[in-house]
Amino acid sequence: MQAAYNDEMEIYIHIPFCVRKCLYCDFLSAPADESARMRYVSALKNEIINRSDKEVWPAGKMPVVPSVFFGGGTPTVLGAGDLSGILSLIKERFNVKQDAEITIECNPGTADEEKLSVLRRAGFNRISIGLQSTDDEMLRKLGRIHNFEDFLRIWKAAREAGFKNTNIDIITGLPGQTLRDISITADKVLSLEPRPKHISLYSLIIEEGTEFKKLYDEGKLDLPDEDEERKIHWNIIDAFENAGYRQYELSNLALPGYECAHNSGYWTGREYLGFGTGAASYLRGIRYADTRSLDEYVSFWTDSPAFNEPSFPKSICRKPEGIAASEERLFGPLSEKETLTESNLMEEFMFLGLRMTKGIDTEEFKKRFGKDIREVYGDIIDKHMGEGLLIKRDGRLYLSRRGQDLANYVMSDMILEKNISV
Ligand code: SF4
Repeated sequence: MQAAYNDEMEIYIHIPFCVRKCLYCDFLSAPADESARMRYVSALKNEIINRSDKEVWPAGKMPVVPSVFFGGGTPTVLGAGDLSGILSLIKERFNVKQDAEITIECNPGTADEEKLSVLRRAGFNRISIGLQSTDDEMLRKLGRIHNFEDFLRIWKAAREAGFKNTNIDIITGLPGQTLRDISITADKVLSLEPRPKHISLYSLIIEEGTEFKKLYDEGKLDLPDEDEERKIHWNIIDAFENAGYRQYELSNLALPGYECAHNSGYWTGREYLGFGTGAASYLRGIRYADTRSLDEYVSFWTDSPAFNEPSFPKSICRKPEGIAASEERLFGPLSEKETLTESNLMEEFMFLGLRMTKGIDTEEFKKRFGKDIREVYGDIIDKHMGEGLLIKRDGRLYLSRRGQDLANYVMSDMILEKNISV
């Protein structure tokens, strides 16, 4: 287990609002009126202020922050002033690197050039736009609020506002989607001017509690079968790789030098602090998640400026074990807290590392855990290499394409023990 804070720590901000709920979505997001959004912004700022207090960091020394990510929901549902204000507070309270990657997620229909220009001037330097499909009929079936024309408008606005580092989200395995459909999507994205620097591909998963789950149960979703879905997945990856992109993670491709720093940090085990409902933090081998209840979150952090006053509801603010007393200020109401054992950390190293196409460095495993990887995973590695799912080369271990298709099967073999929740 890690004994001290790392030198670097990422920051994630969760904005749980959307214009309307998409039919397939189970993210922590919902429509909200202006006054609910205002209350949330004010609570969020209080959470940032309380959790950034210099007293809570060892010897007053904060890690350097190489990336900040505003995700959701749809962050751009908030006004440019609110988003800029939150970012400037983070910069004021944390040790954000001069050249940090600062991403904002945005959906067509929630921003224009003026808003994006304000965000760019405030310091956001990467924009991630949810396109999902270039087919208007598909967008309608998904319950998206935009069509492809709306996307083109925001694409132009982002360019005019000066965003050069851009990502587009695309979903594969959609109802009725064919190989021809996905080729058209790839062609349309590749004909954008300028081309996006990064592509995130998501395979549609039917999640509990969504409208899609109901339609699926009623037999009304015509999903491609598993083989077809995999063909669609590899077809679009090949189209982008042929155009100069490189798949660097199971679901992500980038032009050289534009891999997402924030997500890469996450996959390599960097620590992070998350702010907002449901946002996860990972510090010194312990993972936390803020409460998922908007009401509990807002009421706790709205009341919290007077942390040192006797009325402060410390009973709600759980003090994580093994962390100095002053550090209880790092946390408000939690929905999760999990102390990772050494076995859990090894599993994470394997799960996250194998998500990347460069795989894991077997020497790095030894450095972190003081054990040869073969002592722990020798039999499992041999089994999956024998099945052609894992490849070993130059001291690295990574998934073959077939291994990527069967990633869940390979990963499930990496589990050493049941996680311990406290
Ligand atoms: S915009 Fe994104 S977060 Fe919001 S409902 Fe749609 S998929 Fe979910």
